[in-house]
Amino acid sequence: MKARLTVLGSGTSMGVPTIGCDCAVCHSPDPRDRRTRPSILLEFAGKFVLIDTTPDFREQAIREGIRQLDAVLYTHAHADHILGLDDLRPLSFHRPGKIPLYAQPEAAALLRRMFRYIFDPDYKFGGLAQVELHSIDGPVDLFGARFEPVKVMHGDAEIIGYRFGQTAYLTDFSQIPEASFEQLKGLDILFLDALRHKPHPTHSTVDNSLRIVERVQPQRAFFTHICHDLPHQATNASLPPQVQLSYDGMKLEFEI
Ligand SMILES: [Zn+2]
Ligand SMILES: [Zn+2]
Repeated sequence: MKARLTVLGSGTSMGVPTIGCDCAVCHSPDPRDRRTRPSILLEFAGKFVLIDTTPDFREQAIREGIRQLDAVLYTHAHADHILGLDDLRPLSFHRPGKIPLYAQPEAAALLRRMFRYIFDPDYKFGGLAQVELHSIDGPVDLFGARFEPVKVMHGDAEIIGYRFGQTAYLTDFSQIPEASFEQLKGLDILFLDALRHKPHPTHSTVDNSLRIVERVQPQRAFFTHICHDLPHQATNASLPPQVQLSYDGMKLEFEI
């Protein structure tokens, strides 16, 4: 079935511009150099599925005119991927049932700790996000589409990305384990972490991600989780034509 993907955010954990930074990218007039924290929205079968709730979720939802949300999938429970959870409130109030959230057991436990008030049956102040958290250790079927977790190494931590149809979204990793390459065969679209050129202990570099693209051979690849070291236009000009930096607000049509 037809689906549409919107890049809500393409930036690294501190966002671009980064607070207090005087660099050229942080002061660029190109709107594609303005990167909020990493997340995508998928629309298919009249439903809306979000991957991660960043600290910028409110701004992203207003920018894209989001009026409906039917599920959230989490990649991991680092701050830049979860801190917007409370802003699900307005989208959770006027819908049938709670918004289901899906996360791996470790991430689900962290979400429960970080947002203890939301999951506290004795909370007395009302106005809570109407969400229910599901711990997953395998594929999730949502509205006729299958979301397969893809294990990746984010430094020493094993976290997940997702494959859905012929598209995969791998937002935070330094290495992809051998077994996960099996799940990345025959991709049309691959989103992958490319923080910067300089090595980083928990994130992929442009060169490393280009090697992964070379091996996986998707039709098209888009980098995400990008820091202020990579100017949009100049970096794109240096990349092969099938590989581009994603940018906030970018939209793609695809089959799910
Ligand atoms: Zn991240
Ligand atoms: Zn900067």
